[in-house]
Amino acid sequence: MAGKRDYYEVLGVSKTATDDELKKAYRKLAKKYHPDANPDNKEESEKKFKEVNEAYETLSDPQKRKMYDQFGPDGPQGFGGAGGPFGGQGGYYSYNGSGFDGFGDFGDLGDIFSSFFGGGFGGRQSRKPNGPRKGADLNLNIDISFEEAYLGIEKEIVITRNETCTTCQGTGAKPGTNPIKCPECQGSGQVRQVQNTILGQVQTTRTCSTCHGTGEIIQEPCETCRGKGTIRKQPKIKVKIPAGIDDNQTVVLRNEGDPGEKGGPNGDLYITVRIKRHSIYTRKGNNVLCEVPITITQATLGADLEIPMVDGSKETYKIPEGTQTGTKFTIRNKGFKMVNSSAQGDFIFTVTVQTPKRLSKEQRELLVQLAKTMNEQPPVKKRGLFG
Ligand SMILES: [Zn+2]
Ligand SMILES: [Zn+2]
Repeated sequence: MAGKRDYYEVLGVSKTATDDELKKAYRKLAKKYHPDANPDNKEESEKKFKEVNEAYETLSDPQKRKMYDQFGPDGPQGFGGAGGPFGGQGGYYSYNGSGFDGFGDFGDLGDIFSSFFGGGFGGRQSRKPNGPRKGADLNLNIDISFEEAYLGIEKEIVITRNETCTTCQGTGAKPGTNPIKCPECQGSGQVRQVQNTILGQVQTTRTCSTCHGTGEIIQEPCETCRGKGTIRKQPKIKVKIPAGIDDNQTVVLRNEGDPGEKGGPNGDLYITVRIKRHSIYTRKGNNVLCEVPITITQATLGADLEIPMVDGSKETYKIPEGTQTGTKFTIRNKGFKMVNSSAQGDFIFTVTVQTPKRLSKEQRELLVQLAKTMNEQPPVKKRGLFG
């Protein structure tokens, strides 16, 4: 299969498109490519329709959009892998497979169509409301220091999430009892209805309001969780933050969100990393920048400077005679690691020549001597131009 087209391209919007622009572009294209509107060219339009939906599904979700912008269309698989730096429960999220597969039955189309015309874009229900359902994703932020971002770190954090109730194994029913089939929807979790739209009558389904889509009704709720099937817990979780992570990037721990329902997978835990400002260093891309003050004699005569690196080590760097203030010097491969490769940024420092403000008598004498040899006026003590 050929590589995926860029989602922004698919929707014909710019990378900075607002939610509103996305929505407009999506509406237009979804209408254009809806298979019902293209009876003569069903296969092609289905493909386009699917593509448009996939693009919109990713870009309309701020979290997924951020991941997409950060890692591109194939997702951040490069990071993950069982043996990757995030081995164990970790690993990064990938949006592949998050959508929309197949247009087998009409119910699916109706479902999308319904949300499309109803204007309710957020939170589309999963395809079969009473089937396995993925648990909710959780979001949180953590703050780390500049050095921690540089070196990478493992943090233990406490999160609040729902966990499956062990008394009822998540069914919500009192042990020894079983939920009954919902009489309203006969256990399917959804109710069919016919809707009139600009493209004619469309059969759509909506979630059953009696059982909220579960297809079951609990008559005797579990006492531990009061029928919810889950309990609030505050587990400690280890998060590995890779060296080189940038401000506002996200680490995803798969399956660490709320529990899935009916055997569905757990949600994911999104951790957005914020990096505190550093008093000396700044970051530009993967380079570390800093300013190094030097004296007029170091600038004039040249010097071996001891430059402190972010990891606490020191590098000796020889600046030449006659160095001007504002000159930049580069120490290769001492910047941030690139998260997804073995490459590393550089350490770039800018020297600023400090003009001395207070001189000893002796130093002053020497400078006056120096000034004379340089054919200049000695510095004047009284105010006014050239004394
Ligand atoms: Zn329970
Ligand atoms: Zn029902």
